[in-house]
Amino acid sequence: MVETADIAVIGGGMVGLASALALQERRLDVVLCDPGEARARTSFGNAGVISRGSILPMASPALWGKLPAYLRNADRALRLDYTHLPRIIPYLAHFLAAARETRWREAAASLLPLTSAAYAAHERLAARAGTTDRLARTGWIKAYRTEDAFAGAALERDILERHGVAFEILDGDALREREPALVRRYARAMLLTETGSVREPGRLIEACEALYAQTGGRRIRSTVTRLTPDGDGWVLAYEGGTLWAKQVVLAAGAASGVLARELGYRFALAAERGYHRHYALHPDSPPLSRPVLDTGAASIIAPMGPDRVRVLSGVELNARHAAPNHGQIEAASREAADTLRLGGPLDNEPWLGSRPSTPDGMPVIGRAPRHRGLIFAFGHGHIGLSTGPVTGEIVADLATGREPAVPIAPFAPQRLLGFPRLI
Ligand SMILES: Cc1cc2nc3c(=O)[nH]c(=O)nc-3n(C[C@H](O)[C@H](O)[C@H](O)COP(=O)(O)OP(=O)(O)OC[C@H]3O[C@@H](n4cnc5c(N)ncnc54)[C@H](O)[C@@H]3O)c2cc1C
Repeated sequence: MVETADIAVIGGGMVGLASALALQERRLDVVLCDPGEARARTSFGNAGVISRGSILPMASPALWGKLPAYLRNADRALRLDYTHLPRIIPYLAHFLAAARETRWREAAASLLPLTSAAYAAHERLAARAGTTDRLARTGWIKAYRTEDAFAGAALERDILERHGVAFEILDGDALREREPALVRRYARAMLLTETGSVREPGRLIEACEALYAQTGGRRIRSTVTRLTPDGDGWVLAYEGGTLWAKQVVLAAGAASGVLARELGYRFALAAERGYHRHYALHPDSPPLSRPVLDTGAASIIAPMGPDRVRVLSGVELNARHAAPNHGQIEAASREAADTLRLGGPLDNEPWLGSRPSTPDGMPVIGRAPRHRGLIFAFGHGHIGLSTGPVTGEIVADLATGREPAVPIAPFAPQRLLGFPRLI
């Protein structure tokens, strides 16, 4: 007999798990489908930052000035694998079209309700999952090595200020006082005070999985290979069997485009790959209190415990399954060794994951335009760990016919189907 469910969630990262938990709370009979490989999830390896101010997409007006360096792979913020370029032309076309001040400001306004709800949603989730001790609201720092670099971020500050995102500007001495673990001399820094962070996000994901299981959640530990409309529901074929569900949530992170394409939806998406590596802090170093973005190195250093940090790289545009290239994380690690007093690396190999990215920096959340009972919830790019729990609530609203509390019109799937207008 074929297994059945009210709703199947494809993908067990932050977005899929939060959706499954929220659907379960609404008393739907849920099946979560995920192969269950912890390190394969991007939700495992990120910086854990939950910031109301994460409203500024990568496609920024500043892109045009940096483009020559980006194209030469001469800026650590981005490494482009040219053999992959033909496959992401629709993504790049949308990306360039989005890199204008008007579009940047619009995206910030659209993202604000989502990022503003993120910390409270995490607090609630952590309380349910018993992980409150992993969550701290100590802010996060964007540090600038030169006055010029700080001046270059004036538009960002203007947008944040207009939206009431709280921050303090620190000079080099004030920064050292706030964060004595930093040994590098910075010209200025922005401390975003409302920001929180999760220590070891992978542990939060594990705790959510345990919560889902304890509350009776059913799961299929497998990869869904095909999604087919069937009467008033869906048949999901997976390695090992089939499942029939009345509704389906596609929340497979950077792999979502593959299943969507078979249904005729060709989304302009890309995998923005990123790496991390852990380092011990030198025993004489004070602990790092909050994540720090060193804008000069295009890398984040995030505390994962009192005595260890996670160093994270910038963006690599390449196929999800292409062999790793450790150039960026090695450079980020060298820079980090001049920023903090570090001991040795704590893992043998750097971790690699793929940000599920849309060109305009906004997720895809909404009902599929041409199929009943299919909800899209992917494309959270750089902010999926933080906004995953809010997305879960939105998904549960959509599945139960309620109006989501966060306006989702800007996240409509339709905007990323087809080619953009470039002028
Ligand atoms: C270096 C780096 C730093 C980051 N820092 C931050 C940060 O500080 N704050 C923040 O908010 N975000 C951050 N992010 C982004 C964040 O990690 C992602 O946006 C988020 O994890 C995406 O969650 P997800 O659930 O969509 O995808 P994932 O966590 O990747 O989960 C997708 C799941 O779907 C499963 N799956 C795939 N295909 C199938 C299939 N066919 N059938 C069944 N299951 C399938 C996968 O195995 C996986 O378990 C960072 C990312 C990187 C790489």
